[in-house]
Amino acid sequence: MKAGGLWKNMKCVSFYDTKPYDRIYFDQLAGEYGVEIHYFEEKLNKKTATFAEGEAVVAFVNDNLGAECLQVLYDKGVRVLAMRCSGYNNVDLKFAKGRFHVLRVPAYSPYAVAEYAMGTLLTINRKLHRAYNRTREFNFSLNGLTGFDLRGKTVGVIGTGRIGQAFISICKGFGMRILAYDVYPQDIPEVTYTELSELYRQADVISLHCPLTKESYHLIDRKAIGMMKEGVFIINTSRGALIDSEALLEGLISRKIGAAALDVYEQETEYFYEDFSNDIIDDDTLARLVSLPNVLMTSHQAFLTKEALYNIATTTMDNLREYFDGKNEFTNEVTLS
Ligand code: NAD
Repeated sequence: MKAGGLWKNMKCVSFYDTKPYDRIYFDQLAGEYGVEIHYFEEKLNKKTATFAEGEAVVAFVNDNLGAECLQVLYDKGVRVLAMRCSGYNNVDLKFAKGRFHVLRVPAYSPYAVAEYAMGTLLTINRKLHRAYNRTREFNFSLNGLTGFDLRGKTVGVIGTGRIGQAFISICKGFGMRILAYDVYPQDIPEVTYTELSELYRQADVISLHCPLTKESYHLIDRKAIGMMKEGVFIINTSRGALIDSEALLEGLISRKIGAAALDVYEQETEYFYEDFSNDIIDDDTLARLVSLPNVLMTSHQAFLTKEALYNIATTTMDNLREYFDGKNEFTNEVTLS
């Protein structure tokens, strides 16, 4: 599958959607791995694909690796797509098949995401985000800041892979009862698997830890929300499109949903990781969600720990090394199932 060219060119890597914190560990490793990295601040799409140099592209969660973009990359001689993340829902795998090797970082720190998910639950429950703003203005009132004990409450965990299980062990530490749903249930002590409908009926808190697939798209829709407990808390650190955002907004406005902590958002590609503080946001759903006092929205940052960044960089470099070394089998290749 390799295109011809000089060895020097073969080791050149085009790195999209670059932020200063991304570069730290990649820069440290580049020399050791004999790789020359060309950083682009732009997200990858069919237009920016024209910048690509060499055979390897490194991309992230909000890059758009649809068929049109992949065609441009292919024409430019790119043959390997190294995702520096675990999810690959933004890659057109059908188009990629036979043209590119798609590599990823299956796990870099499940703890980073699980700890963050619990952090956001504690924040929206105990209203830390509001308390922080109040005391900065010397408003020491406690009105409206009442939360509830997590101990004894039921958490419904959807997706019990690496991150789901790390989140479950944190919830156990808080004395929560754990219900779970997964397409492949496992034997986990003190965890009861149920049907989704039962989980919706019983859970005080629902936390999403499954990937975005055709089957899980809008898993949380109006029907699902209709089955949930009054005042349920929803935590999403997985992928935005697991939730129908319009239905979520309706549920929050009707008070059916007590609060939501969202590290991801369906239409985040256009906004997340960039500064729009001087702009008028065109996405009314996003603007309304952000405006609600019982919504905590963050910019897809659950992964952002030093440990995770280091592991992302080393695994991505190992993935690229396997390709540049001419291997035919890859440790972390994504294939169309
Ligand atoms: P994993 O592969 O270890 O676990 C995923 C689990 O989901 C598996 O047990 C799988 O059987 C289950 N699953 C698949 N389809 C399902 C469905 N339709 N319904 C219920 N369960 C289903 O993955 P992981 O490392 O635990 O990561 C989970 C997700 O977290 C990733 O797919 C990614 O979208 C997200 N993530 C987010 C961030 C962030 O910064 N916010 C960082 C890393 C990962």
